[in-house]
Amino acid sequence: MEAQIVVLAGDGIGPEVTREARRVLEVVAVRHDCKLVFEEHLIGGASIDVHGTPLRDEVVARARASRAVLLGAVGGTRWDELPVDRRPEKGLLRIRKELGLYANLRPAAVFPALAQASSLRAEIIDGIDMLVVRELTGGLYFGEPRGIEVRNGCREARNTLVYDEHEIARIARVAFIAARGRRRHLTHVHKANVLETSQLWMQVVEEVARDYPDVTLAHQLVDSCAMLLVRDPRRFDVIVTENLFGDILSDEAAMITGSLGMLPSASLGDGGIGLYEPVHGSAPDIAGQDVANPLAAILSAAMLLEHSLDAIAAAAEIREAVTAVLAAGHRTQDLLLPGEQRPTVGCRAMGDLVLAQLGA
Ligand code: NAD
Repeated sequence: MEAQIVVLAGDGIGPEVTREARRVLEVVAVRHDCKLVFEEHLIGGASIDVHGTPLRDEVVARARASRAVLLGAVGGTRWDELPVDRRPEKGLLRIRKELGLYANLRPAAVFPALAQASSLRAEIIDGIDMLVVRELTGGLYFGEPRGIEVRNGCREARNTLVYDEHEIARIARVAFIAARGRRRHLTHVHKANVLETSQLWMQVVEEVARDYPDVTLAHQLVDSCAMLLVRDPRRFDVIVTENLFGDILSDEAAMITGSLGMLPSASLGDGGIGLYEPVHGSAPDIAGQDVANPLAAILSAAMLLEHSLDAIAAAAEIREAVTAVLAAGHRTQDLLLPGEQRPTVGCRAMGDLVLAQLGA
């Protein structure tokens, strides 16, 4: 199998962590009979500096022609003064939109070696393994009308929460399919006691559920879900929810597992192209120092193999290698507990350790 992969390393630590993810991908893919052809392009501030825009049409076209996009991160203080529509983040929003990526998948699993890093007690987080499927292109963040205006001398702000049944059904399908590949339990998170949009979500998710009788479905109010995530997180397998609830809950679910440097994500649509990126940003405070943790990017590469190339075994191999490297005690500086004294490794060295664990 041959697949074109577009690498958009971006700004700050983006190039450092994606370089390690690409090295790991190259080694693992060959072993699983995937021939990956990489091409690198600029996005974000790096593209603004060279081309005056955070994302060129040519790059969008190359991404459209690819199987998957591996992205680092965008942004940095250097570009903070630019008008909002020319900032690095616009490049990221545009590529997601152009590729029609409406489903954001954020796994939250605990690596046993890092269990101490959670703010929750070890017995509560032991064995957490959940996936938050967030709707990414609809809801309150995109609804019209929106804006701030002055009426009768009083400032008034407005946003619109709107979903149609097709938008709900397609994300529900992504979540049911994901649940099928896991423990077959799906929780739909809503606020149907006060929101009509949530009532429609309930109806449509129930309708879609008829096609997935092997998956058990539960509905959970968003406020109680937020409480359950810290009280009894192990009860969750796959969570599906709308954009705003998903934005908040996916961060909550992720942080109970430990460090920002460990969290991968995938964004999927109907076009067959996936975009894979670490959850963290460009971390300008540590950029260029070879101290960034590349594991979130490496785990994003594992998601790429799983979701875009159906290479489940290859993805599992990467996750096992990361687990083993952590279990052997290796840490980048962000993974140290407050006051913990132990030698740390840099970004490149952590990549080397994962590669060595993979036998490369
Ligand atoms: P950030 O995630 O970049 O950094 C937050 C803190 O976590 C920093 O102290 C940083 O050093 C640390 N950190 C993050 N990733 C790390 C890693 N892999 N290894 C070790 N430490 C790591 O968030 P921020 O500081 O709020 O934002 C910095 C810039 O990144 C801003 O311009 C923001 O707009 C941008 N950003 C981009 C994305 C994206 O590209 N998807 C996401 C979030 C923020």
